[in-house]
Amino acid sequence: MTGVTLAQMGIRAISFDLDETLWPLEPVIVDAEVAFYQWLEAHCPRLTARYNVEQLRARRMEVVQNNPSLRSDVTRSRAEGLRLALADCGYSGAEAEPAMAVFQHARNQVVPFNDVSSSLADLSFHYRLASLTNGNADVTATPLGHYFDCILAATLELPAKPAPDMFRQACLELGVQPEALLHIGDNPQADIEGAREFGCRTGWINRTEMKWPDDFAAADIVLNDLFDLVALAPPLPGVGG
Ligand SMILES: [Mg+2]
Repeated sequence: MTGVTLAQMGIRAISFDLDETLWPLEPVIVDAEVAFYQWLEAHCPRLTARYNVEQLRARRMEVVQNNPSLRSDVTRSRAEGLRLALADCGYSGAEAEPAMAVFQHARNQVVPFNDVSSSLADLSFHYRLASLTNGNADVTATPLGHYFDCILAATLELPAKPAPDMFRQACLELGVQPEALLHIGDNPQADIEGAREFGCRTGWINRTEMKWPDDFAAADIVLNDLFDLVALAPPLPGVGG
């Protein structure tokens, strides 16, 4: 971690990636896939007789391959894949909406890393905060939603990071120039390269002691967790005299 403070960097707002930055992704996706498939077993037995979990996932991948623009919208590609599979099995497709609701509910049962909630509380005292995700978590359905002034998720109209669109929209909504926005994320390309290309400052959160990939320019700051970020922010009033 570098010693430069956020004030020295001229930071006025901070945006955060969600998956693997504020919470681990894999456990919640595994649980959501199970809940989704169990709902289908109960309500669409012809579908689950024909498709196991992997085969259903393959059907969804086909949708993305045939329509690459859906890559930016994971919820829509999942729903489209399900509709095709339902049609294959003689269902009307009306089952897709309640099945997707089951998936989405389980998808939002995220468990933030231990450093996250108190750090966002501290940072929100000094900075306006944004969340920028390429995934399909609804941060307002998590215990962290109230920390954010701006909440963005990739869609067909708002392409996924590293495209500049979400960074541009965050700057607009937060009322800051790109160079005053610090974007924090785990993905060297989507988060760090994307934010830097748009002119934002960058913080790589490296929770798993990964090696930085040589083919990307380094982030402005490197963090093990959000406590490291709080340490670079001004002290809270009444703390440290
Ligand atoms: Mg991420």
